[in-house]
Amino acid sequence: MTTAMVFADSHAHLDFPDYQGEWEQIFLAAQQAGVGYVTTVGTRLAGAETLCAMASRFPNLYATVGVHPHHAKEEPITVEEILAHCDHPKVVAIGESGLDFHYDFSPRPQQEANFRAHIRAAHIADLPLIVHTREAEEATRAILDDEGIPGRGGVIHCFTGTKEMAEWALARGFHLSFSGVLTFRTAQPLREIAAQVPLDRILIETDSPYLAPVPFRGKRNVPAHVVYVARTLAECRQTPLSEIASATTENYKRLFRIDSHPVPEGSKAPLPSATLAYTIGNSLYLNVTRGCTLRCRYCPKWQDEPLVHHYDLTLHRNPTAAELIAAMGEVGGYDEVVFCGFGEPTLRLAVILDVAADIKRRGGKRVRLNTDGLANLVHRRDVTPAFCGLIDAVSVSLTAQDQTTYDRLCQPALAGSYQGVLDFLRVVQAHVPHVTATAIDGAEGVDIAACRKIAEVLGVHFRVRLLNRLG
Ligand code: SF4
Ligand SMILES: [Zn+2]
Repeated sequence: MTTAMVFADSHAHLDFPDYQGEWEQIFLAAQQAGVGYVTTVGTRLAGAETLCAMASRFPNLYATVGVHPHHAKEEPITVEEILAHCDHPKVVAIGESGLDFHYDFSPRPQQEANFRAHIRAAHIADLPLIVHTREAEEATRAILDDEGIPGRGGVIHCFTGTKEMAEWALARGFHLSFSGVLTFRTAQPLREIAAQVPLDRILIETDSPYLAPVPFRGKRNVPAHVVYVARTLAECRQTPLSEIASATTENYKRLFRIDSHPVPEGSKAPLPSATLAYTIGNSLYLNVTRGCTLRCRYCPKWQDEPLVHHYDLTLHRNPTAAELIAAMGEVGGYDEVVFCGFGEPTLRLAVILDVAADIKRRGGKRVRLNTDGLANLVHRRDVTPAFCGLIDAVSVSLTAQDQTTYDRLCQPALAGSYQGVLDFLRVVQAHVPHVTATAIDGAEGVDIAACRKIAEVLGVHFRVRLLNRLG
């Protein structure tokens, strides 16, 4: 019936014991039923490697990394622990995470702490966030607003919330994902909400093995059943099923950046070395990460053609230290090697320190770090002593003379970012010989003289950059 239609189940749990020994058949059966894509969602960090291995078995199966709020008490996690799993090429999102005040299986403060860690990890890894929220709308909104919505957005999974929650989430760029609950006889209010959501923000899911749709209610659910959710959606929106299928699948692919993950089964897609290391003048630049906690208005990353000079620095995943070292080649001939690129290098602190040590070993003349100055804020400790002897110069984007201008231009995800940059400039001088603060001439509202004055008072050099010139 649906040969031409392709559906995407945005949320299933194929690693659950309900499918033991069977999950592969179940995935293949879903594909036969027209469910071309499935995301199997993490609920335990301990299971992250299993999920990645499962996703590596099939091209159209993807994984996520997260700890369900139910498990927050057994697995209190840090941002670093989440990030440790995010470089796998089949990992397309962080989550599921959030708050469940219906069951309260974990103490609320622990759920909240875990939720915050996931949001921060989504900012840093530049991945979308999968949010679970049950009877906790207000607290969910407060925490997300406090931490800032990750740059890649996310999805409120198994949406069963209020109209207010739907509006709040849509206004912040979230997608809403509807599950088998939509088919339940009593779910008329939910169907009314679903009828109003813009078509380009809707996902569908099964939440398998739970929440089987009518007519399978109460039975074990499987991804193939997502077609029944799509049908109900088509009915309540009075839209042809084919349109629902193509829109929700397009939304799925866009949110999870599926076309950026053309990964051969079981292997890591190689990253082109031209994207990892590139030259400007006699300097060698290294592209370390795609993530950052800012969303600068002038950043080329968010433009249609993300080019720096003529290099396309789009990274589909974060490179390892070994990949960067291989891409650099001989370093002795360059005036300097610079950590830079379309993201914030210090988010990958261990990687840049490894690479810097290698550059020094191989006779590199000078190592420079271009940074947003937020390393200490992100890592919640002073990381600058680790730069000693490895980093010779840092250029820090001061950007603006005051917080209001900074916030407008950089749209920071983390509270206290501007103050964080000033503090960083103060402490980094003890460990790095050459420290420069920079600001962009021509950026709206920036007072270059006032920025220069701040640099003087802090005792660092100052350099003016030109608008639309990075690197
Ligand atoms: S300019 Fe740098 S810090 Fe700002 S959004 Fe772009 S990558 Fe992030
Ligand atoms: Zn789930």
